[in-house]
Amino acid sequence: MTVEEGASDANLLNSSELLKKIDKLREKNVGKHVPLPQLVVVGDQSSGKSSLLESLTKIPFPRDLELCTRYATQITSRRETESFVEICIIPAPDASLGHKTKVQCFKKTLKGTDDFRSEFPAILKEVNEYMEIRSDLSSKDGSVFSKDVLRIELCGPTEDYLTVIDVPGIFRDPTDGITTDNDIELVRDMVKNYIKDARTVILAVLPSNVDIATQEILKLAKDYDVNGERTLGVLTKPDLVTEQSAKAALCSLVLGHKRPLTLGYHLVRNRGADDNDSFDHGPGERMFDTNPWSSLPRDRVGVQALRRRLGELLGQITEREFPELRKDLKIQIDLCQQDLDRLGPALQTEHEQRAFLSGIARRFQNFARAARDAHYSEDAAFEHSDFRLLTHIVNLSDLFNLVFEEKAHLRCFEHPALDTDKGKQGASGDKPPNACKETKDWARLSAKQNETYESLDPSNFPELEQIISRGTGTEDPKRGIKPWIEELYLNSRGLDLGTFGGTILSSAFKEQTIKWELMTREYVSNIIMVVHRFLCTALGKVCANRQLYDRVWSSILDDLLERYKVAMSQALFLLSVERNRRPYTLNDYFSDNLQKMRGARVARMLEGNARGEMRKNDNGHWASSGNKVVDLEAVKEAAINQGNVEHVKEEIHDILWSYYKVSRKRFVDGVYMQAVEHCLLTGPESPLEAFSQDWVINLTADQLEAIAGESPVAKARRASLMQKVEELTAALLILKF
Ligand code: GDP
Ligand code: MG
Repeated sequence: MTVEEGASDANLLNSSELLKKIDKLREKNVGKHVPLPQLVVVGDQSSGKSSLLESLTKIPFPRDLELCTRYATQITSRRETESFVEICIIPAPDASLGHKTKVQCFKKTLKGTDDFRSEFPAILKEVNEYMEIRSDLSSKDGSVFSKDVLRIELCGPTEDYLTVIDVPGIFRDPTDGITTDNDIELVRDMVKNYIKDARTVILAVLPSNVDIATQEILKLAKDYDVNGERTLGVLTKPDLVTEQSAKAALCSLVLGHKRPLTLGYHLVRNRGADDNDSFDHGPGERMFDTNPWSSLPRDRVGVQALRRRLGELLGQITEREFPELRKDLKIQIDLCQQDLDRLGPALQTEHEQRAFLSGIARRFQNFARAARDAHYSEDAAFEHSDFRLLTHIVNLSDLFNLVFEEKAHLRCFEHPALDTDKGKQGASGDKPPNACKETKDWARLSAKQNETYESLDPSNFPELEQIISRGTGTEDPKRGIKPWIEELYLNSRGLDLGTFGGTILSSAFKEQTIKWELMTREYVSNIIMVVHRFLCTALGKVCANRQLYDRVWSSILDDLLERYKVAMSQALFLLSVERNRRPYTLNDYFSDNLQKMRGARVARMLEGNARGEMRKNDNGHWASSGNKVVDLEAVKEAAINQGNVEHVKEEIHDILWSYYKVSRKRFVDGVYMQAVEHCLLTGPESPLEAFSQDWVINLTADQLEAIAGESPVAKARRASLMQKVEELTAALLILKF
């Protein structure tokens, strides 16, 4: 048994000081933010909870069965020089906005507690209407229980510092047409919610005339208060116990001989159904002077003793919980402060707004430049792959170059050296066989390509829809370039003697490069997505909150899209120059290639006539030198054997091949340098420059206000956070002294 028999006055004083503090905290609204020590009256329906409250607080709660408690009521009493009562409704946290606004309109202030007693029943009726509680139980309008809380504050010179919460009684069986299984759960949840907190003293109300084994509340309380440190049993209706044996059983319960509770039991006689309004505890409790009650300790019977005991208990809990409470308050203050930091400074003047936004733009620029130049060590954020801008771009460009080389031509070129081994001829028709890509490399390449593809999903960027495009993969180049060239030549030849007209080359080149557009669009689209994704995340990184981010983003987005469009059209411009203008180059590489190709053809033609060269070695013996030699006569023969058409066809093929190679390299480089490097990365009109300090400088005052000014929502949020910090800080101060 832990009950301190007869607490000393010093103790009481101490606990009432603590309670005063707690009530002060409640006044500061701290209960909204952290749970405060409180008393909760719980029990089965009709166990006498409301009557007990009436005994404790003198508020005449309606006790008739029909009107049993349908919502939680929080009664706070506070010592004040003036006597008054304040009543309001605290809406349920999950109530609709409409309901919240409605119930918050309900407020009553009554002068003096005497008025209150006479007006209370009418007030309760009104409360029921506000909470939309069904008053006529036979009707179907409204609900039976409400999660709103009725708050009654009793103030007066003789009031104790005490907060008690009355919750609806637990019941087990639904009543036809009135309460449902849902209601049973609702009430049980409500009770659990109140008793689960470590700072709540549970007053488990048990009617004396019923076997306590049938009372669910003790079990429920035990679930949450495992050690029974904060559960006090309150036995009501002792006057209804008539049998001697039942009285004796009750006494042994109070004395802790039966089903003991750590905090013990109290015996209280409340106003019964037959007692009139002028019921007084004095005469009512005279029964405790008679046998067998007179054998019980005085501090375990009667309302006065109970009230005293509750004060002590609350004081003990409060004292025990003070350090925790302080910690909770500090945590809450920190959280508020973090939220405030996230809101950023309150920017009122144009100057403040410009300076603030300019600072963000500067940070953004620094970050973007570091990403563009691959200076990843400058910021820890570069750990994240999306931020590694230059690396992604180089990877994609490399891939583009490789894939373009492998696949961009419509038909495979046929190098003379390949003719002997057609089976091996890969997609890389424009390269001598020894430089052919290994299939392993090719597999790695396409795997890499797929990886890049997967990380760049165009559906993530619906705003780019009008600019970017993506094909379904590039087909491998076709076979049969020779028959195609022959067809082309035969269909357009004129009076030529072993030569061909310039238009053949143009049209052959145009057809050979037909896939370039799709591939180029796709490449530039990928780069745009990488840049866009970077800008999106980088802006998120420098903007402290979502709202600012949204506003900056939406003000630069159109400009960004315009800049992407410029990059894309630059690439397409280069493409149209390559494909639609007359094929020409000043690059020696063209003639180098052509000469090499021609040489290879001659060698190929003479291969059949070649024989191994024999040379005298140092010992004077003849031996093979490893070289092949051909007689001059054989050269003449070989040239004669080739027909005109055959010759022109090869000539067209070789020129096309040499030119294609030069053009392809020129184009890929051009696209990179102009569309990517200039338009998207380093040029003055690059999207990376869209959100810069210059941009901020050029904003008008109105535009600034729209971007950096505080919205009404943010203003309200800031105000409420500041108020919360203020309340919590004041609370902390109260706890200190
Ligand atoms: P609640 O549902 O738990 O709030 O129970 P109430 O406070 O409404 O009480 C139910 C009935 O029991 C009412 O008619 C009360 O008058 C009656 N009652 C409560 N306490 C006592 C008591 O100590 N003695 C007597 N005789 N009746 C009581
Ligand atoms: Mg009740």
